[in-house]
Amino acid sequence: MSFKDSINYIKQLKYKQVAALMLNPHVWMWVFPLLLIIPNVGLCITEFNSLMAKLTNIVLPFGVYLLLMTWSRKVGRTMLLCLPIMILSAFQIVLFFLFGQSIIAIDMFMNVVTTNPAEATELLGNLKVAILTVCAFYLPPICVGVYMVIKKRRLSEPAREKGRKAGVFITVIGLVMMLFTWVFVDGFKPTREIFPYNVMSNVCTAVSRVYESMNYHKTSASFSYTPMMTREKELVEIYVVILGETSRAANWQLLGYDRETNPRLSGRSNLVAFDKVLSEINTTHKSVPMLLSYLTSENFGDSVAHTRSVFSAFNDLGYQTAFISNQRRNHSYIDFYGSEARTVNFISDRGGPQLDMNLVEPLKKIIATSPSHKIFVVLHAYGSHFEYRKRYTPDMAYFTPEHNSQASADNRQELINAYDNTIRYTDMFINEVIKTLEETGEVASVIYVSDHGEDIFDDERKRFLHSSPVPTANQIHVPMLVWTSDKFNEMFPERTAALKANKSKDVSSSISLFHTVIDMAGIKTPFYDNSKSLMSPGYSSPRRRYLNDYNESVELINSGLWNIDIDVLGRRGISVD
Ligand SMILES: [Zn+2]
Repeated sequence: MSFKDSINYIKQLKYKQVAALMLNPHVWMWVFPLLLIIPNVGLCITEFNSLMAKLTNIVLPFGVYLLLMTWSRKVGRTMLLCLPIMILSAFQIVLFFLFGQSIIAIDMFMNVVTTNPAEATELLGNLKVAILTVCAFYLPPICVGVYMVIKKRRLSEPAREKGRKAGVFITVIGLVMMLFTWVFVDGFKPTREIFPYNVMSNVCTAVSRVYESMNYHKTSASFSYTPMMTREKELVEIYVVILGETSRAANWQLLGYDRETNPRLSGRSNLVAFDKVLSEINTTHKSVPMLLSYLTSENFGDSVAHTRSVFSAFNDLGYQTAFISNQRRNHSYIDFYGSEARTVNFISDRGGPQLDMNLVEPLKKIIATSPSHKIFVVLHAYGSHFEYRKRYTPDMAYFTPEHNSQASADNRQELINAYDNTIRYTDMFINEVIKTLEETGEVASVIYVSDHGEDIFDDERKRFLHSSPVPTANQIHVPMLVWTSDKFNEMFPERTAALKANKSKDVSSSISLFHTVIDMAGIKTPFYDNSKSLMSPGYSSPRRRYLNDYNESVELINSGLWNIDIDVLGRRGISVD
């Protein structure tokens, strides 16, 4: 029968015949494995794996699925037992719609644990097409499976035998291809490239990471920075670090943006803005622990459970320390590291994240009531986290219109307006913190850095938000500012001069925040490296690295970054090498 004849045949089929075909177990023995390998075909298109790896990722799973379908004559039951695979496949297809690439990452499971579910559903609300597609693929086999179980529809023995032989044959070919790829393709790992084996492996890794974090208090108990004070005990010193949220460098007037997003800070003296700062990760729950400790992408995976935060160094030296957070508790290392401060205040405990300006009063209280001359405070802001319009008051809506906040590329200009308003609000908030310290007249400093950036439908990929499995330029290029008081500048002019000298150098926020803070306070510790402090004349730019989903440190250029992102960074004077 020719192709044309087949089409004509299908056209002539009556409703009853179509229904009979749809409910035929022999048809499903072949069709169901084809439905299950849809994500594998998708990954072939989206991933940059070798051709052999891509082919293996289709042939081997198809063979295994065919074997599964011929394992018993009760095809309906087998299809229903494959529900977990269908769920993983459905998630994977939704992911294609979200990010256009990548398998379900370990960090996605971790983000589910560490993110407010309401935020996730805001995004899912915009995924109607993805969900409809998934339903079109996987609801029919579920319904047919139930029908065949009830009606006791089974494969004939000869058909099962034929299918089984084909299944064995295709699986063996798939295994040989996998072996061949393993031997001849550099870096090929079945646990990373064969779907859904890779996702199952990621689930196990996520579970073991959660288990590891649950034992943090035991595994980190013996850690110490063994710090030593080099300054006089009577000298009053007040240091504040502001950890920003989802703020990207591209929208900061101080860093060259052509909109007035920094009206207050632009007029400030004693402020140094670093314009070539990249974060080594695009997700909060890994970025903040690196910022709060000596950890970088190179030792995060091995050491995060065995390290304490910079608070422990300041505590050992008698500082009054405080962690004041406008983010929800999420039982991740952020909470553990933050909770090492003497005073811990999650203002979000009272009804969720508030306006960041509400962090200022608790800061003033810490300064006013400190029993020590030395104060170190970290403010964890909510900054520019989606939904943008909730991050500032209506009277701060400087860029308008900004009412249409639905996550859609059609709303890009309104989303940008709202996002820019969050930066203006952050500008006011940082300025208020600086003012608070300035009014004390003491040795003081404020360092601001964002944990990661954000995509806002910036190019044809139509990426939105952050934490995608592969980073983008705007997700990792972050603002970093250092303000120092007049008295600090008088007492430590070499540090202020170094800040200015280093302002246009390549910086990794994940590496440099810790060393800069330690240097700022004149603390001696074996963990300090002056080539990583922005206050040191000996500062030298690091090689660009990135923490991948497997907690491995890779060269940024090998992180999966697209050429479009390398170009964007290049135009901003940032080399990814
Ligand atoms: Zn974040």
